[in-house]
Amino acid sequence: MNNIGLYIHIPFCASKCPYCDFYSFRSDEATREKYAEAVIRELHSAAGKYGRTADTLYLGGGTPSLLGGNILADIIEAAKRDFRIDSGAEITVECNPHSLENGIFEKLKAAGVSRISLGLQSANDSERKRLGRRADRSEIESVIKSIKSAGIDNISLDVMLGIPDGNIDSLKSTLDFCISQDVSHISGYILKIEEGTPFEKLQGTLSLPDDDAVSDMYLFMCEYLDSHGYKQYEISNFAKRGSESRHNLKYWNCEEYLGIGAAAHSFIDGKRFYYPRSAEGFINGITPEADGEGGDLGEYAMLRLRLTDGLDEGELKKKIGISIPDNMRKKAEKYAADGYLVSDGQGIRLTRKGFLVSNTIISELIY
Ligand code: SF4
Repeated sequence: MNNIGLYIHIPFCASKCPYCDFYSFRSDEATREKYAEAVIRELHSAAGKYGRTADTLYLGGGTPSLLGGNILADIIEAAKRDFRIDSGAEITVECNPHSLENGIFEKLKAAGVSRISLGLQSANDSERKRLGRRADRSEIESVIKSIKSAGIDNISLDVMLGIPDGNIDSLKSTLDFCISQDVSHISGYILKIEEGTPFEKLQGTLSLPDDDAVSDMYLFMCEYLDSHGYKQYEISNFAKRGSESRHNLKYWNCEEYLGIGAAAHSFIDGKRFYYPRSAEGFINGITPEADGEGGDLGEYAMLRLRLTDGLDEGELKKKIGISIPDNMRKKAEKYAADGYLVSDGQGIRLTRKGFLVSNTIISELIY
């Protein structure tokens, strides 16, 4: 049996960013403690049920760092014990650079954390303010310094494109900041206005760059990061050699993962299931709901085409035992002629231009 990736969802944030539709909310200390106890209980019960070993652990949210170093260390210790996670595993914790407990990174390092993912979004304070982010640039710089001095070298920064009043110059200054901090990984996401968020209500007043401007920013980001040693390996992800996110690669390679926590999804033994979006329900022992079967050709192709390596013939044969079907190759031809993808003996890979319209291309190829 292959090793799985283990994901733990911590749904708490100090405040709600106006663009965010993740399952996260403000909470009190008692709720956070009860939730952490429920995570440890569920880890133990899932370990007994599936009997699997994990080689990546990812604590995401929300803002896991809000739990503080001691509680996070307790959760990590429980996960390591129950899922036989060894010292070579990739263990990531998402952190918000604002209001971090003193000494948290030393505690995380001692617990085995090897990677920190920080929500930067922009290095320009005025842009960060518009996004509802609290920390300023100097605070972020000092957080990165603290992570490194605790001995954690694998740092990922999240950057956002297409933010209100954003342009290529402001994006370049954000990327320059990331490069100057010598982080190992950068994720660059295009802002999407999600239903039900404050940004949706304000949409008409936000002065958002248009689609062409956002496309230019995306292409600029890909080239600029590439020229500074950050190789693109997925639509939105760039890494220095060997620093690709091993946990997230499991999703895109359609490998197995187990999610613990409210709103966390899993894919184990060909089945998909998830915990409902209710922290209270999770604390009270609500069980995961089934979400059908997974891992067929369509799903595998959809996930793999997000990667720069694309849908690879050799990997597809190993995974599903077939070659890329003729009808998929045929549909790929017209996109290849227009420079949106490459279709050759190795497989099918989207180009950067193709990544900009990946949803359209991928759904046409797989249906
Ligand atoms: S910190 Fe992250 S998860 Fe929390 S509200 Fe902001 S974007 Fe959402």
